[in-house]
Order: sequence, then C-alpha cells, then structure tokens
Amino acid sequence: MATDDRLQEYRKKRDFRRTAEPEGEDEGGRRAGDGATRFVIHKHDASTLHYDFRLEVDGVLVSWAVPKGPSTDPRERRLAVRTEDHPLDYIDFEGVIAEDEYGGGTVLVWDRGTYRNLKEPDGETMAEALADGHLTVWLEGEKLRGGYALTQTKMRGDPRNWLLVKMDDSEADARRKPTSTEPKSVLTCRTLEEIAADA
Ligand code: MN
Repeated sequence: MATDDRLQEYRKKRDFRRTAEPEGEDEGGRRAGDGATRFVIHKHDASTLHYDFRLEVDGVLVSWAVPKGPSTDPRERRLAVRTEDHPLDYIDFEGVIAEDEYGGGTVLVWDRGTYRNLKEPDGETMAEALADGHLTVWLEGEKLRGGYALTQTKMRGDPRNWLLVKMDDSEADARRKPTSTEPKSVLTCRTLEEIAADA
C-alpha cells in the first residue's frame, strides 16, 4: 500500500490548521544515514496517560498505544492497542496537542533509537510479521535495549489488541522501572509538565 493511503486514517482524525502535528506530506521523511530502521516511544498525557510505541516499517510509523508503557521485565505482559499508522516525521514530534483536538494533551519523546527485525534475514519481513500478528525486534534505544515481542491476541475479539513483552535476553532486567525512574524526554530532557509550560 502506498504511504499516502496508509496515512488516510491519521489525516482524517486531525485538523492540521489546529494541531502542530506533522501532516506527513514529506514522503518518506528523514531517514537514518545508515539505512537503519528507527523506533520511537512517545509518552502521551491524553485523556489517559499512555505510551505510544512506534516502529518504522515501509515508510510509516506502525503504532500501538501501551497504557502501562514498556517493561524491562520478561514476566510483564503489557497490553498494546494498535492505532493508526503515523507519518515518519512524527518521530521527533514533541509538544502540546490542543485539548479539543484528537489526542489532545502533551507529547514527550520518551525513547528513540534504531531497531532490527529479529526474524530477518531468513524469516519474515516486518510487513509479513505484522500481517501474521507476531513481531520480534531488537531495540537500540537510549532507555530500552534488547529483544521485544509484540503478539496480536485479539483479546475480547478486538484485532487491535496485542501484547508487548520483553524477551528474556542479556538486556532483560526485572528491577529496572524506566517508566518511573527515567521520565524525561530523550530529545529535550524536559518533563511533561515542562513541555506543557513551554507551549
Ligand atoms: Mn497517543
């Protein structure tokens, strides 16, 4: 599917005269120099606080809303609700979305970096893994590193329901609680409150 078609739902939900979020017209957006694929985790203080986990796949950011945020403990299973694909230039979006707009509230870049598909080179592409409802990725972020699995569970009959689980590898750590101990933006070192105050 062309990038433009994949961003239809994203654009339909937003009034770009009223939100500073990117429209995603710059096809492809900025790319990492070495061709590595990128990820970002936004902390989003909307009607309820959640984390948006986004992976660059074929020219868009495939996205899930994770109410409790990611864990570094392999025993923790975190609900991840698939949301609409976002444009690539959303990757460094940080700021305040007006209260009466879709997703109204403060957005902070909680973590970012590159990832690789653990099923490649012999297994599935990311697009195939998405369609099959099971991805495994290795993150190289500033806060999160190591393997993470995303599995579509269709809990309560809803195909949007996935689970995000830390894989049991050298980067797993049940004692770390990065969502509590490392709350600031990796982009600007600001807290949600500081971003809101600066807006
Ligand atoms: Mn969100």
